[in-house]
Amino acid sequence: MPRPLLATIDITALRHNLAVAMRCAPRSKVWAVVKANAYGHGLARGMRGFSAADGLALIETEAAVQLRELGWQKPILLLEGVFELADMHLVAQHRLDIAIHCEEQIAMLEQSGLSNPVDVHLKLNSGMNRLGFRPDAFRAAYARLRAIPAVREIGMMTHFANAEAADNPGMPLAEQVARFARATEGLAGPRSLSNSAGVLLHEDAQALSDWIRPGIMLYGATPGARSAAGFALRPAMTLTSRIIGVQRIGAGETVGYGSRFAAAAPMIVGVVACGYADGYPRHAPSGTPVLVNGVRTRLLGTVSMDMISVDLTDIDGAGVGSAVTLWGEHLPIDEVANAAGTVGYELMCALAPRVRVIERDGDPAQ
Ligand SMILES: *Cc1c(COP(=O)(O)O)cnc(C)c1O
Repeated sequence: MPRPLLATIDITALRHNLAVAMRCAPRSKVWAVVKANAYGHGLARGMRGFSAADGLALIETEAAVQLRELGWQKPILLLEGVFELADMHLVAQHRLDIAIHCEEQIAMLEQSGLSNPVDVHLKLNSGMNRLGFRPDAFRAAYARLRAIPAVREIGMMTHFANAEAADNPGMPLAEQVARFARATEGLAGPRSLSNSAGVLLHEDAQALSDWIRPGIMLYGATPGARSAAGFALRPAMTLTSRIIGVQRIGAGETVGYGSRFAAAAPMIVGVVACGYADGYPRHAPSGTPVLVNGVRTRLLGTVSMDMISVDLTDIDGAGVGSAVTLWGEHLPIDEVANAAGTVGYELMCALAPRVRVIERDGDPAQ
């Protein structure tokens, strides 16, 4: 008997969520973002789920090569470009599009002497101050790229710092859009701005986006505190397990490492086969939502490496063997993440290699 912890990946949900993104931005092409092992869902599954996308975008060069080996024929974009000159031959060999975010990467292209044409995406730092050329250096970078014989098309991209809270006074989205519009005005090439938050919340940013770059929404979660279901998104990853032990404790007794939860009254505590070594967040506090037999209950005490404890007191018939949902269908990952002070991204990306994964493709009722 394997351990009862199981991640179910719903390929149909990936397909559905991609269709939602396409409906939100009907005039834009789509880079489906599959970095970090398709946000923990598996690269090959991402490729299948997003077969209708115009291209796949990611960070890892090896994974880009793997996508070609798996048969992906359409464009692939390396969102951070290449990390060293030696990787430039992979770009040519596997027809990879590359982001260009700094002078050093332009120099690599110049030195590479590539003969195959390559499509590049010049990145503007429009206010996030992470990667990209500042607006006053953008046109010079574009001209320098244009002079490289192997460079075919020059796309232009930028990334939003606050798409989910667009009026954040630190750097309002509208200001980033305006800077992008100014910096790229009159330059030839496709433009790409919106991540999931941009796609879901900002039609104005899409007007400029020849390509959108959704990630988190394709997996059925949201970048902010809003409800994914409210956008008709479906969770693609459901993490389930079972109760493997039960303790009946009296008032005043404590639970788990550090004795951080104390019972106010007699209660029934269930032990679930899932811990931080599986990717469950160790900092999730007592009260974090969990489903047992489909009934919503709460985490109790400190998350252990292989187990968590949950409250079974008011769940009729719950005991060893009862079904548990940690997140996914019927329990949004965003809600669990929010309770644990993090984001759905981190939970899905942190799914540990030891967790068994099965996939579902098609109507679960069939
Ligand atoms: C990860 C990433 C995205 C996707 O962001 P989401 O918030 O997951 O939609 C888009 N663009 C770039 C450059 C990224 O690195």
